[in-house]
Amino acid sequence: MTTVEHPIECWLTDMDGVLVHEGHALPGAADFIAALKRADRPFLVLTNNSIFTARDLRARLAASGIDVPEEAIWTSALATAQFLQQQVPGGRAYAIGEAGLTTALHDVGYTMTDSDPDYVVLGETRTYSFEAITRAIRLIEGGARFIATNPDPTGPSVDGPLPATGAVAALITRATGREPYFVGKPNPMMFRSALNRIEAHSETTAMVGDRMDTDVVAGIEAGLRTFLVLTGSTRAEDVDRFPFRPSQVVPSIADLVGLV
Ligand SMILES: [Mg+2]
Repeated sequence: MTTVEHPIECWLTDMDGVLVHEGHALPGAADFIAALKRADRPFLVLTNNSIFTARDLRARLAASGIDVPEEAIWTSALATAQFLQQQVPGGRAYAIGEAGLTTALHDVGYTMTDSDPDYVVLGETRTYSFEAITRAIRLIEGGARFIATNPDPTGPSVDGPLPATGAVAALITRATGREPYFVGKPNPMMFRSALNRIEAHSETTAMVGDRMDTDVVAGIEAGLRTFLVLTGSTRAEDVDRFPFRPSQVVPSIADLVGLV
């Protein structure tokens, strides 16, 4: 049996470790985005980070020299809001998070409440409050469904790792005995919702990522062509240790500009 390689028409790309690292553009990132726009390719930049709105992220990318339109940015907060809107339209949520999450929930028609919500929605923040976590635990005990934007246990900072959504979710799980449903990577839901947003088909879409255990595995599960770049998390010598492999490993996003 031979597999037909369909031409790549649409692109999904991870942000941290692929386009930027600690606020600086990685070599080739600006050229790659410029090439996508020039070729009129549907594309989305994906991130599990739920702190910022797409507008905030656009501004941050622009400051590092990468010009991505706001509507081409897809965060775990946006994917979470879309998922909730499909599950319980016009529902009520108790949200722990920043503007990235609360704006996304408002924009799909959700109401924020701290009494009797349909969902407790946990996202990323730099200031987790013990009071808010206590409230979340009691609401989950009272029957609210538990959702989290992304499972990452830590996030990067210049001073070292920061506890992130996955770690705080574990705290709430320990207190309630309830596991959250995580919407962000490696849940392929994140890629499926991205494909729908740009009306792309999996067999003609490629995904670029820097992590085997999130980007590549979720890309494979969503049926995408997968490119692993070595400018982020996964190192070249570790690729073969995973029970799955990307379609191709390349040194950096600069090596993909010619494929657009
Ligand atoms: Mg990454």
